[in-house]
Amino acid sequence: MRFDIFSLFPEVLNPYLNTSILKRAQETGALVAHTYNIRDWATDKHHTTDDTPYGGGGGMVMKPEPVFAALEAILGAPPSCPVILLSPQGRLFTQKVAFELSHFNHLALICGRYESVDERVRQHLATDSISIGDYVLTGGEIPALVLVDAITRLLPNVLGDPDAPFDDSHATGLLEYPHYTRPPNFRGWTIPDVLLSGNHAEIAKWRRYEALRRTLQYRPDLLINANLDQEDLLFLEKLGFSGEITL
Ligand code: SAH
Repeated sequence: MRFDIFSLFPEVLNPYLNTSILKRAQETGALVAHTYNIRDWATDKHHTTDDTPYGGGGGMVMKPEPVFAALEAILGAPPSCPVILLSPQGRLFTQKVAFELSHFNHLALICGRYESVDERVRQHLATDSISIGDYVLTGGEIPALVLVDAITRLLPNVLGDPDAPFDDSHATGLLEYPHYTRPPNFRGWTIPDVLLSGNHAEIAKWRRYEALRRTLQYRPDLLINANLDQEDLLFLEKLGFSGEITL
């Protein structure tokens, strides 16, 4: 999977991309990540990349020319891969969207800054626009890293456990069951006996129940779309779940 990330501050991207699992994914070739400074494509003497908004008001708007020039220099015109503009106005990024995007082999990401990016970038260059949540950050770099990270861990041979992405919270429609590791007794806090039983069927059942229990407790809204069988529903009923979700 290749990502081309266009930003005014690419220096904040590289330390994260070059750490831990993303670093290893680059070493094995599962991930190819290139970062570019949009300013390198500003042609005037001062390398201007932003200007005041038409219509007045505060803040600065990122100029369209350097953004178009950067993407077209690297990816051709029109760009040879989907182009995602990071924006709080985009469609919401979820695990489902991460799975969807993990099927591409090449994506370009545009990080905005300041008040916004000139609207013509969204209209005529971006093919998709994605928000990482209903809040506003100062720039699109963290959102871009969120996408790269969530998508990369879904790619083959990136995680040590190839099944992990399918059990993770949100992949199944439920929050994942709790995890424990050694020691079995830490400050008097012990771990559930079933995890030491060696009985895989019982452990699987316990994990399913715990996933259901904590989803009901912390994110009951997720149960609306979760794939639940009769046994799950019986268990949830015992916990007081009526089938009605009150948000
Ligand atoms: N004035 C804009 C927000 C600009 S924030 C508005 O109200 O829509 C500056 C930049 O940060 C944006 O261009 C975008 O690239 C990035 N950004 C901020 N919050 C984001 C979010 N929740 N998801 C994705 N990108 C975001």
